[in-house]
Amino acid sequence: MSAPNKSYDPVEVEALKPEEIDRAKDEALAAVAAAGDLGALREVKAAHAGDRSPLALANREIGALPPQAKAEAGKRVGQARGAVNKALKARQEELERERDERVLVEEAVDVTLPYDRVPEGARHPITTLSERIEDIFVGMGYEVAEGPEAETEWFNFDALNIGPDHPARSMQDTFFVQGRTEGEDSGVVLRTHTSPVQIRSLLARELPVYVICPGRTYRTDELDATHTPVFSQVELLAVDEGLTMADLKGTLDHMVRALFGEGLSTRLRPSYFPFTEPSAEMDMVCFVCRGASVGDPDRPCRTCGSEGWIELGGCGMVNPRVLTACGVDPGRYSGYAFGFGIERLLMFRHNVEDMRDMVEGDVRFTLPFGMEI
Ligand SMILES: [Zn+2]
Repeated sequence: MSAPNKSYDPVEVEALKPEEIDRAKDEALAAVAAAGDLGALREVKAAHAGDRSPLALANREIGALPPQAKAEAGKRVGQARGAVNKALKARQEELERERDERVLVEEAVDVTLPYDRVPEGARHPITTLSERIEDIFVGMGYEVAEGPEAETEWFNFDALNIGPDHPARSMQDTFFVQGRTEGEDSGVVLRTHTSPVQIRSLLARELPVYVICPGRTYRTDELDATHTPVFSQVELLAVDEGLTMADLKGTLDHMVRALFGEGLSTRLRPSYFPFTEPSAEMDMVCFVCRGASVGDPDRPCRTCGSEGWIELGGCGMVNPRVLTACGVDPGRYSGYAFGFGIERLLMFRHNVEDMRDMVEGDVRFTLPFGMEI
């Protein structure tokens, strides 16, 4: 240590007093240790190691000291600044490491999570199946016809030879929208079948008429595994000169093969509907066992209940009274019609066991059908 300089005692320079330098250093080190994140550390660095920090100011005072005092003061300040910078650097690295580890955890990508939060839906199989049937008939020259779902009683019943006291009206449990009032000849119902579209087509179109009528229909059934109050039908009507049941049978055979595969045929069983005469129930050969399950207990068939046949729908030659109601001369024209429910078709074609699945709108039900367009 050099002797005290009588003319300029560094001890008298306040900023260079050893205890002041130690205090500035200790404050700086305490602040560095207390900095909780990189932002706080930046502020500590500016306050304790920046140009305006106590140690930087002290360093500036050294230049004014006499040579013999400079060395000691310089060493003291230099060591203090070195200690602070070293602590700053160590704390910086520590905080950066903590931040990196936190980011790795917080911003980790879980590759097992679903990649798409808004998954695509699918078209409902009732729609796709209905359109597939339409396509088959459009390919044969038919037109698609549609009509209102709230229909007058005249279109829904009267024109189809279902008179006011006809038992068919009570057989069909109808939603009445607007009752028949005094002076009016027709109330309004939710259509119980798509047959009124056939009447509308006959009234609106030039003969011959070949139309396919898909659409929603309504009956007052409770929703359960095999019933639904809203269901879908496809009906077909052909009115032309010289049409016979042979034309109807050939058309049905073609439809069944187009829907279920080559080699399948249909059969007609006598039945009764007010709007057709003669009328028939139409069955198709089971497309799964093709009749092989009949009388063979070793090969039971769930699709047809080992009957060999599946009931598909009703059909027949258009009743002349219906033609007359639509202004068509039954002496010159004849027609055939048939209709069936899409829900039932979907059930046995795709092994759908519960009708409620079709109306609940769960995309998990519709997705497996989504490929059929
Ligand atoms: Zn079968």
